[in-house]
Amino acid sequence: MLPAVKLPLQWKWFFGLVALLTALLVLTIVGIDVTLPPYLVHKIQEDLERDVHLMQYAFTGPVTTTPVSPAQINVLAHDLGQRTGLRITVIAPDGVVWGESSPDHQPNEMENHLRRPEVQQALHTGLGSNIRHSHTLGVDLMYVATVVRTGEPTGPVRAIVRVALPLHQIAQTTSRVRRTVAIVGIVVGLIAVPFLFWLARRYSRPIETMRQMAARVASGDFHTRAPERIGGELGELADALNQMSHQLETRLRELANEKAELTAILSGMTEGVLVVDAGGRIRLMNQALRQQFQLGDEATGKTVLEALRNVELEQLIAVPSAKEMTVLTPTERVFVVNAAALRNRAGTVVVFHDITRLKKLENLRKEFVANVSHELRTPLSIIKGYIETLLEEPAPDAAIARQFLQTIQKNSRRLETLIEDLLSISALESQQAQLTKLPVTLASAAAAAVEELSRQARAKSQRLTVNLPASLPAVAADPQRLHQIIINLLDNAIKYTQPGGQITLSARPVEHEVEVCVSDNGPGIAAEHLPHIFERFYRVDKARSRELGGTGLGLSIVKHIVQAHGGRVWVESAVGQGSAFYFSLPRA
Ligand code: ADP
Repeated sequence: MLPAVKLPLQWKWFFGLVALLTALLVLTIVGIDVTLPPYLVHKIQEDLERDVHLMQYAFTGPVTTTPVSPAQINVLAHDLGQRTGLRITVIAPDGVVWGESSPDHQPNEMENHLRRPEVQQALHTGLGSNIRHSHTLGVDLMYVATVVRTGEPTGPVRAIVRVALPLHQIAQTTSRVRRTVAIVGIVVGLIAVPFLFWLARRYSRPIETMRQMAARVASGDFHTRAPERIGGELGELADALNQMSHQLETRLRELANEKAELTAILSGMTEGVLVVDAGGRIRLMNQALRQQFQLGDEATGKTVLEALRNVELEQLIAVPSAKEMTVLTPTERVFVVNAAALRNRAGTVVVFHDITRLKKLENLRKEFVANVSHELRTPLSIIKGYIETLLEEPAPDAAIARQFLQTIQKNSRRLETLIEDLLSISALESQQAQLTKLPVTLASAAAAAVEELSRQARAKSQRLTVNLPASLPAVAADPQRLHQIIINLLDNAIKYTQPGGQITLSARPVEHEVEVCVSDNGPGIAAEHLPHIFERFYRVDKARSRELGGTGLGLSIVKHIVQAHGGRVWVESAVGQGSAFYFSLPRA
């Protein structure tokens, strides 16, 4: 099959108009062919009827004189035939032909005419007509006949007069008219063609332009404009198109802006947002949600159960409400999930508020309060117990009372250090403790701490060595806090290392920092404790720590201070091989 040729509108209109014109012409010719011949026949018949009455009048005399002279009648018929151009036949009442105008026929050679249809009709009604093919002349003829009587209108019939005319005139007239009309039609057509071409062009051009414009608008190009200088309805259509395009552009721009805003809002949100359609399939996820649940683009279009594998969530979407949910993402996270139905039940929007950190903090706080209460209660109940014993009757003797009072003193000191440590931690945590960072040399800080703790070390016959390179750069630190770090680490080393042990404070510059190490050759710490050693109230051996006056907060304070300075803290240790506590601080 041939491919359909797409004709431009202009040509379609042009050919349409030409076809219309041609059809009109053909129709006119057919109309002429159909209506003209019957009309002409009718007209000829009318003429012949008039003629036959004239002939009736002309032959009344000759056919009523007695005796009738057929020769005279024949001459008259001949004569009248020549003058009028008609064929005239005069027939006796018995059908014998008396006179005949046609020079090809002799009356006495002609057959009896009584049975001719027009003759019969004339005898019965006074006037008869018939169309017949004349074999003699080889053409169609119309015959009209009437009777001649003596004493009109009912006297005896004296003769029948008949006139005839060949009908080939009709065909000739018809074809002449047809030819004339065709020629006129063709001439008119030829003159009309350029006009039709112009007309088709005049009206198809703007329509074609508008069609192209509409197509361009549909494909998103709003900068084309329909031709504006056209009058009439087409002009109005062009205006309307231009307006529509303008409004579309504005609406689309607004929509795009709204969408961009929405996308910006959604991607800027820390809460995860999920939109599911009425069929429960995911339509939209924001960046936060993708991260929270580690989802990719392939999740779009899936059901919530397929993508997130969470029945609880599926139920929440089915009956929108708010709920706290623990989800494996794959790490365990706690969310406050809010589901709300969209308007017209078009779907559901679900917002995930991650409260994992908050929950953790809350748990830590609870744990901390419990720990603090416990830590405070132990020394308090000891103090209370001893005071009660001291107050009992009979009073204990002086030596025992003194021993009791020493225990009370020791525990109240413990309470004091505990409260000091707690205050330190709370100050560090609430960031009230404003750090006043100054360039501090480690040598001076270490010397002050060693000085402070030398008595304790001497009491356990431990060697306290400071080993610092001469070129060690100064650090940027709050001098008091740095002192606290070193004291806590050295104090721990002295406390937990056996008598006669070795404790060393050393340091080295590393990139932009200075790395400090407090090491000992004490008992060391088992690997399982190392990850927790900097946690609050974490002790490897609770009883021993208490015995030594520890609060379980020393390392936690160290960690806080170092981190507040932008440094790191870590430990290397193994059972039986001593411990090395490291911290780093930025250079001054
Ligand atoms: P404490 O007040 O109990 O010393 P810390 O936070 O200072 O609390 O220390 C936590 C725990 O770490 C201690 O209870 C102890 O078990 C262990 N530890 C700290 N320093 C050392 C060290 N130098 N050698 C062995 N164990 C240590």
